[in-house]
Amino acid sequence: MAISLKSKEEIEKMRAAGRVVHRVLQRCREICRPGVTTREIDEEASRVIAAAGAIGLFKNYPTYRPGEGFPSTLCLSVNEVVVHGIASERRIEEGDIVGIDCGVQVDGWCSDSAITVMVGEVRPEVRKLCEVTEHVLRIAIENIRPGRKWSQVARLMQRYAEHAGLSVVRDFVGHGIGRQMHEEPKVPNYVSRELLRHDIELREGVVLAIEPMCNLGSREVITMPDGWTVLTVDGQPSAHYEHTVAVTARGADVLTDGR
Ligand code: MG
Ligand code: MG
Repeated sequence: MAISLKSKEEIEKMRAAGRVVHRVLQRCREICRPGVTTREIDEEASRVIAAAGAIGLFKNYPTYRPGEGFPSTLCLSVNEVVVHGIASERRIEEGDIVGIDCGVQVDGWCSDSAITVMVGEVRPEVRKLCEVTEHVLRIAIENIRPGRKWSQVARLMQRYAEHAGLSVVRDFVGHGIGRQMHEEPKVPNYVSRELLRHDIELREGVVLAIEPMCNLGSREVITMPDGWTVLTVDGQPSAHYEHTVAVTARGADVLTDGR
């Protein structure tokens, strides 16, 4: 499995895309209040992306032919929606959690990041779901070193989530990223026999989109008839956080944190 390594110059181009993604997510977080529709959030994201001269990577994915593929600019995944929610007339309510996922390309290079926004007062167990899932991403970032295997990092992520009583989604994983949004390798948030057989060597120049998805209930998910929206089977909420991260000699360099 060939993982393409990125040069320092290429990583800086990905950081430029990452800054736009960060700006989009911060703006969407600001307007993600009770009464706003997910379509309004999506339209604001489109404006920020266009103003930055960037190209959104989700709209019309994967063919990028108009009228085909994914229908919105962002993935907007409310409560029991795990990932790949489509912008709609659904109005955000107090107590909701809203996964906002954005990918853009700038000058031929991609970045991808996601946050989960807690709207107003959120039930304590749902707050914990979000905080633990965000910390699972932090654990990955803090444990990346050249020379380590991804399975070592994934084990720490999985252990933390499961010890906190959450389940780790198996059907969707992170990915390599570069000129394309989805490159080799697949980057699971758990350890499997398949990962151990085809482990990822963390070397300088590897760039990964790391994106833990954790559920309050069972890890089982189902895709809706629209072909995109992924829900928890038990209807319990799910949280998702993502950063695009480069492996450097010193460890992880987060490209989507706005720096
Ligand atoms: Mg994403
Ligand atoms: Mg991704």
